[in-house]
Amino acid sequence: MKLFTKYMTRNDCYTAGRKITPKGIMVHSTAVPGVMAAEWFSRWNKSYKAGEINRQVCVHAFVDDKEVWQYLPWDHRGWHAGGAANNTHIGFEICEPAGFSYKSGSVMVGYDAAKQEDYFRKAWQNAVELCVMLCKKYGLNENDIICHSEGYKLGIASNHADVMHWFPKHGENMDTFRKAVKKALENSTDNNTDIGIGDMVEFKVSVKNYYPGSVEVPTWVKNDYYHRVTQTLYKGKPVIKGGKECVLLGKKVKKSGGLEVAGINTWVAKENLVIVNSITDNKSNRTYTVQKGDTLWRIAEKELGRGTRYPEIKKLNSLTTDTIYPGQVLKLPK
Ligand SMILES: [Zn+2]
Repeated sequence: MKLFTKYMTRNDCYTAGRKITPKGIMVHSTAVPGVMAAEWFSRWNKSYKAGEINRQVCVHAFVDDKEVWQYLPWDHRGWHAGGAANNTHIGFEICEPAGFSYKSGSVMVGYDAAKQEDYFRKAWQNAVELCVMLCKKYGLNENDIICHSEGYKLGIASNHADVMHWFPKHGENMDTFRKAVKKALENSTDNNTDIGIGDMVEFKVSVKNYYPGSVEVPTWVKNDYYHRVTQTLYKGKPVIKGGKECVLLGKKVKKSGGLEVAGINTWVAKENLVIVNSITDNKSNRTYTVQKGDTLWRIAEKELGRGTRYPEIKKLNSLTTDTIYPGQVLKLPK
């Protein structure tokens, strides 16, 4: 999962500034075909009071097949459920792919499930990984996850069909989604053996001390910053403090704005941390191996969502012509 954080500070929901203790997660989908996670920032970072937007709405994050964009602090009260779930639930939207339309209400018209399967699986995976991260951070589990339409049945959300108007087209439902989160939670061990140098992490909310017997973690260290792991060994050996294996957090990254500066330089028990972005996600460019019949346009369409983006691939790979050949490895823009 590749997570970006950029708060919608212009949205009235953000400026309302109310906090919640997250007790659950509500999954939504956008019902706006083809608008991806990063694009929602300019659409929704607007003030209703100032007449810039005609809806009072804001969610914590948008998820697509490539990225997750967080637009509100997770413990900020969002405006996503149209009901009491706003007081308890983190809400995120899964972006729906291009290539179909809506006619009456929540009926997808011209939705080709076979064609959309690849997009759906990738977006599903990102949604699962986001839920895993949030469950670890707030001590939740798969049973704390519901979708908007389930929230309506429980009387804590408005009457919307998402995501159950969409998931079944791919043979899935909220039970299979919860099952996938459960499995991923079980597979990601509590002692976070997968944390490595370069990973961006944050503290679980329940954490009191850096490691057993150490000083307390200040609130700003937990709330305002992500931290980058800069060291995992000392003289070639794992570092154990208070009986727990620790990593050094040597750089900090401001959650609001992304500025990276000198860090807290403190050893912290791995089990107290949640990986926000793993370094493998942050490798600057993905690559693509050219298949028989591919053109730059087709690759841009398939991999970047729009054929018109093909000059970006050309430039990135210093291609002087449009000629490509099967087996050629191309770097892809972000
Ligand atoms: Zn919804």
